[in-house]
Amino acid sequence: MSNLVDQITAGLKTWARVNSPWVIHFNSGSCNGCDIEILATLTPRYDLERFGVKLQGSPRHADVLVCTGPVTRQARERLIRIYEQMPEPKFVVAVGSCAVSGGVFEGCYNVMGGIDRVIPVHAFIPGCPPRPEAIIDGVVKLLSSLQSPAPVQPIMGPDGGKA
Ligand code: SF4
Repeated sequence: MSNLVDQITAGLKTWARVNSPWVIHFNSGSCNGCDIEILATLTPRYDLERFGVKLQGSPRHADVLVCTGPVTRQARERLIRIYEQMPEPKFVVAVGSCAVSGGVFEGCYNVMGGIDRVIPVHAFIPGCPPRPEAIIDGVVKLLSSLQSPAPVQPIMGPDGGKA
């Protein structure tokens, strides 16, 4: 009986998470180009909220961490702290070529590389910066993969970059 209750509870949680994921955004060293595209994604023209996505400020309430920029040595500890404060299960989306691989900042003395050098990443959205359509595509693919009982495999979004 308790097994059935656990299964129903898990199913309800997955349903709620897929239909209304709460997202927190962190800039770990971006030039702000990707951040502007994320803001555009949330405004009425592209309206990411139509998929139930809600941007909010506390990692303790977030399901998805959206990161922009490479990880600088200064931001590394904060990124880890934010990730650790999020409840399980949690997912990370790397937005922009810098977040995917370090991009144009790769090799700089103060840069550690892409987000996955520090925390696990579940969706990579390349582009410099990626267009809002590419960001939406990556988020929707991540949400679709959450419905599967199999562990989430890293997703590579389309190269929606402008350059
Ligand atoms: S991917 Fe391009 S726009 Fe985004 S942080 Fe890097 S340099 Fe800036």
